[in-house]
Amino acid sequence: MKRQISAVKGTKDILPQEVGKWQNVETIAKQIFELYGYREIRTPVFEATELFEKGTGETSDIVIKEMYTFVDKGGRSLTLRPEYTPSVVRSIIDNRLYLRSHPLRFYYIGPMFRYDKPQKGRYRQFHQVDIEVFGEEDPAIDAEIVEMADYLLKKLQVLDTETLVNSVGCRKCRPSYIKELRSQAEKVKDSLCIDCQRKVVTNPLRIFDCKLETCQEVARDFHEITDFLCQDCENHFNLFCSYLDFYGLRFKVEPRLVRGIDYYTKTTFEIISSRLGAQDALLGGGRYDDMMKDFGGPDIPGIGFAAGLERIISVIPFLEKKREFIYLVHLGEEPKKAGMELSQFLRRKGIECLIEYKERNLKSQMSRANKLGAAWVLIVGEEEIRKGMYQLKNMTTGVQEERSREEIPEIIQAAS
Ligand SMILES: [Zn+2]
Ligand SMILES: [Zn+2]
Repeated sequence: MKRQISAVKGTKDILPQEVGKWQNVETIAKQIFELYGYREIRTPVFEATELFEKGTGETSDIVIKEMYTFVDKGGRSLTLRPEYTPSVVRSIIDNRLYLRSHPLRFYYIGPMFRYDKPQKGRYRQFHQVDIEVFGEEDPAIDAEIVEMADYLLKKLQVLDTETLVNSVGCRKCRPSYIKELRSQAEKVKDSLCIDCQRKVVTNPLRIFDCKLETCQEVARDFHEITDFLCQDCENHFNLFCSYLDFYGLRFKVEPRLVRGIDYYTKTTFEIISSRLGAQDALLGGGRYDDMMKDFGGPDIPGIGFAAGLERIISVIPFLEKKREFIYLVHLGEEPKKAGMELSQFLRRKGIECLIEYKERNLKSQMSRANKLGAAWVLIVGEEEIRKGMYQLKNMTTGVQEERSREEIPEIIQAAS
């Protein structure tokens, strides 16, 4: 017996019966993003490892534990992208897109890769929709993208969501907060998990990301960043919140929302769903005003969000579109060719058409049409070819009529 090769751990096939739901979500997302002025950008699936070490951050869990990094035959260290933002920033600099008029608005839909512990709804190849805006520092854009995210989720019929917002400060004000946090965490180090003990040294902000209840309990006593924001960050945050109010969006300020990525400045936000359980964020994002400049590009602020498609798809209803296809039954060699020509004709008219190539009699072809759920059956025999009239059967009503080649598409289109 030959050994069967299975899908790689943590990956999943998206099968034909579920792909309709994916296509729905992707279509709606594209339509909405384009209404807000975004255009699609597609960058390679792998990049230089350095891009993520520098962008996502060397102290982030993603870079330390979760990257798919490999050396190619040319000796380069490459990484399958674990997130999208660094790739977009790289592409903007590479292609000098920053020379175009600002703000730049891009969206992307596609796979990301993280060597994460596989669990329900979490895969090592997962999919995100992602949007980014560059060259706009007005907090009105922060509110606009939260409003767009909210609209997207409503259109997708995602229910029971909550929007959390925070400011993580900037390079002027965050260092003093981190210093304070480190000295606080240092004192209670023994009550933290091994991971968090390391974070006390590397990046104490990360302790807030820990999923362990014991660590969260300890972190509840830590100072909140809100008290450490500089004037600029505080103004930005207050305006952002006032614009959210202006849109009539309900939100909660969550001072512990730092998100697991190093590059955020000022605004961070998440939309969570009570239907998801423990890993409850459907969508999250924030501002990253220093990233472009840190990558050797011009000093242009950025902001964006990413939404997990697997998670969204797990909480939305799906109304399957009914397939209205015609099943072509043929009897004999000449009718087979006539049938092949007729199917081509019908497909050109925009009608889905299936034709059977296995030799079968009329009865077994009819029962197969039934089993497949054909809306119509078209019968082509020698008699039909001679007359130029074909038997067309409506499988719902059972009515069978003789029709000419030209009449068939009109009848089918009129009925659907
Ligand atoms: Zn600041
Ligand atoms: Zn911990």
